[in-house]
Amino acid sequence: MVESIFLKIARKEIPVHIIYEDENCLSFLDVKPHVKGHTLVIPKKEGVTIFDFEEETLKNLMIAVRNTMAKLQEVLSPDGFNVGWNHNTAGGQVVPHLHVHIMPRWQGDGGGSMHSIVSNPGELSVDEVAELFKI
Ligand code: AMP
Repeated sequence: MVESIFLKIARKEIPVHIIYEDENCLSFLDVKPHVKGHTLVIPKKEGVTIFDFEEETLKNLMIAVRNTMAKLQEVLSPDGFNVGWNHNTAGGQVVPHLHVHIMPRWQGDGGGSMHSIVSNPGELSVDEVAELFKI
């Protein structure tokens, strides 16, 4: 199996601009930023999606996200953030190694919110969707 580029980055085999690192995770500037300070946070362990990791790694990832946001806040003083990840190709994931996008936001920067990712709610009502979860 071909190793993903982010595993190589985690091993420091490919240079990136690191802005935060701890034992478990690495945060670096996205090479094609959608906003100033667009950052990716990765677990150093291998895995494509959130389902590939045990709880401890995911807890550590969330702590790294918080610490990275604090660093971005300190250096760039944004007014807000969007934080999330693309899960599988249908969700927009290109690199097959779990990575959290952190996008600093400024008032009037012209960007949208999570709600602008997709607007295609389908035929079922919210009540009908809720029924599908009932056992
Ligand atoms: P995604 O669509 O969630 O898989 O996003 C992958 C992100 O990784 C994109 O925003 C790319 O610009 C970014 N990216 C790919 N290769 C590198 C790299 N070598 N260094 C930094 N960012 C990268």
